[in-house]
Amino acid sequence: MAERLVVIGGDAGGMTAAAMARRLRPDLDVVALERGAHMSYSACGIPYLVAGDIDDLDDLVVVTPDRFRAEYNIDARTRHEVTALDLDARQVEVRDHEHDRTYKLGFDTLLVATGARPVRPDLPGIDGDTIHGVQTLDDAERLLADADRRPPRAVTVVGGGYIGLEMAEAFVRRGAAVTLVEAAPEVMRTLDTDMAAMVHKAMEAFGIDVRTGVAVEGFEPGRVLTAAGPVEADLVVLGLGVQPNSELAGDAGVALGARGAISVNRRQQTSADGVWAAGDCCDSFHLVSQRNVHVALGTVANKQGRVAGINIGGGYATFPGVVGTAVTKVCSTEVARTGLTETEAARDGFAYEAVTIESTTRAGYFPGTKPITVKVVAERDTGRLLGAQIVGEEGAAKRIDVFATALTARLTVFDMISLDLSYAPPFSSVWDPVLVAARKAVEAVERGR
Ligand SMILES: Cc1cc2nc3c(=O)[nH]c(=O)nc-3n(C[C@H](O)[C@H](O)[C@H](O)COP(=O)(O)OP(=O)(O)OC[C@H]3O[C@@H](n4cnc5c(N)ncnc54)[C@H](O)[C@@H]3O)c2cc1C
Repeated sequence: MAERLVVIGGDAGGMTAAAMARRLRPDLDVVALERGAHMSYSACGIPYLVAGDIDDLDDLVVVTPDRFRAEYNIDARTRHEVTALDLDARQVEVRDHEHDRTYKLGFDTLLVATGARPVRPDLPGIDGDTIHGVQTLDDAERLLADADRRPPRAVTVVGGGYIGLEMAEAFVRRGAAVTLVEAAPEVMRTLDTDMAAMVHKAMEAFGIDVRTGVAVEGFEPGRVLTAAGPVEADLVVLGLGVQPNSELAGDAGVALGARGAISVNRRQQTSADGVWAAGDCCDSFHLVSQRNVHVALGTVANKQGRVAGINIGGGYATFPGVVGTAVTKVCSTEVARTGLTETEAARDGFAYEAVTIESTTRAGYFPGTKPITVKVVAERDTGRLLGAQIVGEEGAAKRIDVFATALTARLTVFDMISLDLSYAPPFSSVWDPVLVAARKAVEAVERGR
């Protein structure tokens, strides 16, 4: 009998690994089990589907289950949920929701790619049918069905992380009055508060009613109860972050790591023999802080899936880790970060300098030039780059990739000022904002010595 790989979870981490393992091991019997109705989809596109930029939910599907079966020879089963995992018997228990039956399936190798789920606080009324967490395409389908059936006049987003911000914008663009409630003093906890304050201002300018420092206490039909009084809400979106779907693996005895995510080594191996994990369900190593972290991003899930697939297929690959790079857009404001913020550098015990510069996305005289603010954090003694944040308008955010590359290469801000970056007036000033920020950081480090 052919050796069998069972994949739990049919999106970025799972199907990237499944396709890679299949390519390297044509003899392998590959079965992919997905509890939802869709596989291999872009959850990242959901806010743009809700906003109406993308017409059809199916446009977010990259490869259909039919195509996985026909072209990849992967036995792709949707609406099949793994309900238990027995590592000694080397089998999973599967609930087939399509045919209302339960069966057991043996495996030689297992890949856990169960993703993460939106945090649902244990508050009165949280199970109301107008309260939506958004993670999978099935979640998006339910949310859109609700919004189409009873077009909401008032939408409340709970939580000011990037998904909350993107969903808030999406509902403004659908014509709703949107309130965003955040318990922390500022939105976007992944930025320092001075940078996040600019995002806050941009959201208000777009018409979003942003209420920071306000804790949610419960939900009632038509309203969200907060410490500062009720907020009208025909529909609620939860944007409180995610938690890893690691219970299945944890209950079976697989070791868990950062924030309860499945602990993996750099080859994506778990603590259990022949069991691998990839994506939002597992942790990653942070190359700057040198800690294990849980980063739930498609960028990471795809890379981890590729590495797991190569290793399962008999090759050798490693995922060295993350530097914490993320980018988003709220209204016309672009937001990006990488490495450590000033707050994180202080938390991790670094002695650092932090500088902020304001510049323009194109040459100052060039039509269409837009503002950009760049904040850089560098180690005080060595000048090693520790992190960067960018808030600006069109053309600003992707500059973060230069900083992400510099972090990976462990460059100092002294190295960065000589980088041979491109220049022509439609793209930047002769001193790109990245270089201007690095120069200011060099001055601060020299002063601090
Ligand atoms: C609204 C939104 C916007 C986003 N935007 C971005 C972005 O701009 N950039 C970025 O990098 N990332 C973004 N992300 C994050 C990105 O989508 C995820 O990091 C990525 O999808 C993770 O892939 P995954 O395969 O690990 O997990 P998931 O995509 O969560 O897939 C896991 C799958 O496993 C299935 N599953 C779970 N348990 C079981 C079980 N017991 N049995 C069978 N199946 C199971 C689930 O149904 C799910 O389909 C966004 C996410 C959301 C929700």
